[in-house]
Order: sequence, then structure tokens, then C-alpha cells
Amino acid sequence: GIRNDGRGAPAYVHVDNQLLNAFYDDSCFCMSFGDGSSQNGNTPLTALDVAGHEMSHGVTAATANLNYSGESGGLNEATSDIFGTMVEFYAGNTTDPGDYYIGEKLRMGNGYLRRMDNPAADGNSLSCYSSRAHNGTPCNGDSFNGIGRDKAAQIWYRALSTYLTSTSNYSAARTATLQAAADLYGANSQERYIVSKAWAAVSLGTALPDPGNGNPSPSPTPTSSPTGNPNPGGNA
Ligand SMILES: [Zn+2]
Repeated sequence: GIRNDGRGAPAYVHVDNQLLNAFYDDSCFCMSFGDGSSQNGNTPLTALDVAGHEMSHGVTAATANLNYSGESGGLNEATSDIFGTMVEFYAGNTTDPGDYYIGEKLRMGNGYLRRMDNPAADGNSLSCYSSRAHNGTPCNGDSFNGIGRDKAAQIWYRALSTYLTSTSNYSAARTATLQAAADLYGANSQERYIVSKAWAAVSLGTALPDPGNGNPSPSPTPTSSPTGNPNPGGNA
């Protein structure tokens, strides 16, 4: 479960009237989902990536408990989009296949709530860390193979549950993921190197030297169970 205690979180639907939003509230360990606007023909906000997003706020509350403001708030929201997307891919639903859109099943006017491959396309989000360069990823013109979603998810989860704290900023998140990648795959691993390139591609830090291990296989190694740290009073 969300808190590693086997307890399910209640989910409330038809919340409010024509509400185009969904929430997680740690004080009730519950989620609330609006129906969306009937005028705009939205579907209810219960799409799997959105539901995974809300549940992941509970995971964050139970681990790093990132404060919901400034950079730690951005990391809190990012974590929910990351794991919401991983949930969608993991489910393998042929009628809602995995993709890097958030909320593409809600019949939004522009087709989605957010898109992770090009965050700035929504007209509100930034694609790169530097405020001077947010014209799409990669911001440094780099091009490289990823390490696969499973390994990326393992690294992010370990960073979230082991190294990030309530006040972590983006720089700390970079450090945490590099440490998590070292823990899981080795300090000289290609995985850790690719993580550093991914951060550099969004204008955060510079890439580590290439350890020269070639392309990593996309299968993650089994990892330790997450640390339980129920933290009441977290942010929604
Ligand atoms: Zn959220």
C-alpha cells in the first residue's frame, strides 16, 4: 500500500460540482476526484495516470514528505507525475496504454493536463531548470539512450524514500538520484552516468565522465523494501 502497511486509501468520487481536479489529503489518508466539466465534455478525473499521481502524493507524504511550496513542492508534484506515468505503463491497459502525457483520457481541450516529454508545451510548465532556457528537452542539445523506466523508477523511489527530505531542492534531488543510482547499480555504473546526463539535459549540473560501460540493460536489480515512515500532517 501507499504507506507499506497494507492499508488501502479511501477514494471519493463526484467531489464538488464540475470539479476539474483531484486531490490527495494525508490528514484523512484519502483521495478525492472531481467529475470534470460536463460543458467541456471532460471525463471524471479518475483516469489511471491521475489516480496514480494522487496515490503517489501519499507515497511522498510517507517518505520524503516534500514541503508543498517552492522547489520541494515542484519535486512533490514531479514525483506524482513520474510514478503516475509508471503506473500507467505498468498496468499495460490496451485501452489506455502508457505514455508521457498526464490526463490524456480526460478529453481536455488541448488533449492533456501535462506532458512530460515537453513540459513547456502546456503553456505553463517549464521544461528546463534554468529560467533562461525552457524551450523543450533536452535543453543542452544532448541526445542519448535512457536506462529504461523500471530502473529509472527504482532510482527515483530510492532517492525519495532514502535521501530526500521535506526541504530538498532540485540540486539535492540530483545528488540523491546519483547516490541512489550508485547504491543500486554501482558508483561507476552506466546507469549513474545516464542519470547525470538526464539532469544535465534539463539544465541541472553537468554530466559525469563516461565510465565507458556501454548501454545498460533495462532490467532493474531487486531492491530493498522501502522504508516505512508514516508522516501525518503532510501536504495534499
Ligand atoms: Zn499533484
